[in-house]
Amino acid sequence: MSKIQFETLAFQQIDNVLHVTLLKLFTTSIPTEELEQIAPFRVIDKHTLSFDKIDEDKAHTKFGFVLEKHFDTLKNKLTGNHVTYVHRNSGIPLIGNVAFGIVHRDSSIIEIKPITSCNLNCMYCSISEGISSKKNDFVVEKDYLVEELFKLIKFVNEPVEIHVGVQGEPFLYEDLIPLLEDLQENNNIHTISVDTNATLLTKEKIDSISRNNKVQLNFSLDALDENLAKKIAGVKNYNITHVKDMIAYASEKMKVIVAPVFVQGLNDTEMEKIITWIKTLPKQPRLGIQNFLRYKTGRNPAQSLVWSTFYTMLQEWEKKFDIKLQLNKEDFNVRKVKELPRPFQRDDVVPAIIKCLDRFPDTVIAVAKDRTISVANCPFVKDKRINVKLSRDKHNVFVGKVV
Ligand code: SF4
Repeated sequence: MSKIQFETLAFQQIDNVLHVTLLKLFTTSIPTEELEQIAPFRVIDKHTLSFDKIDEDKAHTKFGFVLEKHFDTLKNKLTGNHVTYVHRNSGIPLIGNVAFGIVHRDSSIIEIKPITSCNLNCMYCSISEGISSKKNDFVVEKDYLVEELFKLIKFVNEPVEIHVGVQGEPFLYEDLIPLLEDLQENNNIHTISVDTNATLLTKEKIDSISRNNKVQLNFSLDALDENLAKKIAGVKNYNITHVKDMIAYASEKMKVIVAPVFVQGLNDTEMEKIITWIKTLPKQPRLGIQNFLRYKTGRNPAQSLVWSTFYTMLQEWEKKFDIKLQLNKEDFNVRKVKELPRPFQRDDVVPAIIKCLDRFPDTVIAVAKDRTISVANCPFVKDKRINVKLSRDKHNVFVGKVV
C-alpha cells in the first residue's frame, strides 16, 4: 500500500465522490471510479490517501494527472466562482497580470498577489470584489510565488518592500502566514506590508505575524457606527467591535496604518470619530485617510472629492486633532529601481498559447516568453495557439487582442 499526503489539500469521500478542498477555500470533486482506475484507494485521514498494489511514485503521478484535470472545475466556496490554481507545473507565469502573481512597477515596492476573492462586499470597492463578485478567481502556490519573487529580488539587487495588496482579502489565503515567514528570511526585503479588512484576524494570528519584525498591517476602517459600518462593508456579519479590537491589538505589536476611505455623502461624519478613536489608543497607528476614487470596474456610490477640497479637509483635521494625516512618497520610502526588461512591446504581434480564463467573462490569459497576456473577447480553448496584438506593455502588464 502506498500513501500520498498533501498539506494544502483536504479530502472527504461522500458516496461515489471524493471532495477535494484546496487551501480551505477552493473545492473540486472527483468521481471515485476515476481513482479506482489508478488502484483501489481509501481516504486515510483529511490529508492522506492510500492506494493498493501500486508504488508511491506512480500513485503520486497518476493522482496528479487526475487532480489536474479536476482543477479545471475548481470553485470558490464563498461565491461559487471558477478558480484557476496557478502552480509551478501549471504553465502560467507570475508576471504579466495585475490580479495575481507579481507586479513590479520599477519601484522599490514590489506587489504580490497570491489570491483573489473577498469576504466583504464594500459599497465603494474599486474592483467590485466580494461575495457578489462573478469574476473568475486565482490562487497561487506559495512556493512557486516565493521562488519567482526571489528571482526578481535578486535581479533588482537592492532592498525592497513587498506589498501584499491583493484584489480581495489576503487572509483568505490559507498559506499567508507561512508566506510571510518565507519572505522574512530574505535579507533584501526590509518591509512586508499587508492590506487587510481585519475581519479574519485573531489575536493568535497577530501574535504569530508579529514575530516577523518586517510585517506592517494596513487596515481598512470606514465607519465606527455599527449599522453604517455594516452597510459600507456590504455584509450583515461585519463586526466593527472585532475590527477595532484587532487594530488596537496589532498596533501594540507591530507597525500599523489605518486607511479609511472618505466617501462623500456616505461616511463624512465618521472621519472625526475615527481620528478621535485612533488618538485614544495606547500606541497610536498611522492614519492615512484616502479620497474615494471612481473606477470603471468599481462600485461607485458617490463622486470623488475634488483634490484641493480633500487636502484642505485633511489640513483642518490635522490642526484640530494635532495629528499627521497627509502621507507622501517619503513616508512610504518609494524609489525607482532597476526596470525588468519587457520581452515584447506595445503593438507587437506575439504568438501565444491560451492557458486559462482571466477575471472577466470572455477574457483569457495567453502565455508567451515567461509572461501572461490578458486577451479580451477571446473564447477559452485551453492550449490553443493565437496571435495577440499588444495594446499595453507598461510595467510588464500585458493586454492585447487576437489578430
Ligand atoms: S475589503 Fe477591500 S477588496 Fe474586499 S470588498 Fe472591501 S474594498 Fe473590496
